[in-house]
Amino acid sequence: MVHKGVETMAEDLKEDRITKISDEFVEFLRDAGYLEIGACIQCGNCTASCPSGRRTALRTREIMREAILGQEDVLKDKELWLCTTCYTCFERCPRNIPTTDIIIFLRNLAVQRGYILENHLNLCKIFYQYGHGVPINDEKWNELRESYGVSRIPPTVHAHPEAVKECQDLIESVGFDKKIKIGNYEEKKEEEKK
Ligand code: SF4
Ligand code: SF4
Repeated sequence: MVHKGVETMAEDLKEDRITKISDEFVEFLRDAGYLEIGACIQCGNCTASCPSGRRTALRTREIMREAILGQEDVLKDKELWLCTTCYTCFERCPRNIPTTDIIIFLRNLAVQRGYILENHLNLCKIFYQYGHGVPINDEKWNELRESYGVSRIPPTVHAHPEAVKECQDLIESVGFDKKIKIGNYEEKKEEEKK
């Protein structure tokens, strides 16, 4: 594939792709300065080096392909959420394509469209409620911290409970609290059937 600039890619996308995300995607590339995605040669190094893909259906190369083509369906792809963001694919990509950042971007876009796995959704809800993705709810962890010579209670919302409200204000300021109420994939699918 010839290395194309973002503007050329945008033209291609407008010409022959059925897409609803291309404008946002191209905008992302432009803003991030990532012109390289057009240079993807579909070599599959990303898939081959993906530790998650060895055990799951995640195929990074396919996600890159769908993204480059601006295919809306990539946002409904549950495999998008199986990436651990380890960045191995990025390190091994011969074209230096920011694969992991692209996956993160696609997830953000997927959530905006109402697609998120239940476990991730629950984590978001917990974060909203407690100001921590994984709250410390067992005294044994405090004891473990102490045994390592650090403060029993971490200097987070655990030590500053008043900061939970600040976290919630921040989440609400960008409207993410409404996204948390959107439901998961299954609920979204039911909604689409109506
Ligand atoms: S390793 Fe890079 S060039 Fe190869 S398929 Fe993946 S993103 Fe494309
Ligand atoms: S960043 Fe994600 S897609 Fe890339 S190798 Fe790691 S788990 Fe796989």
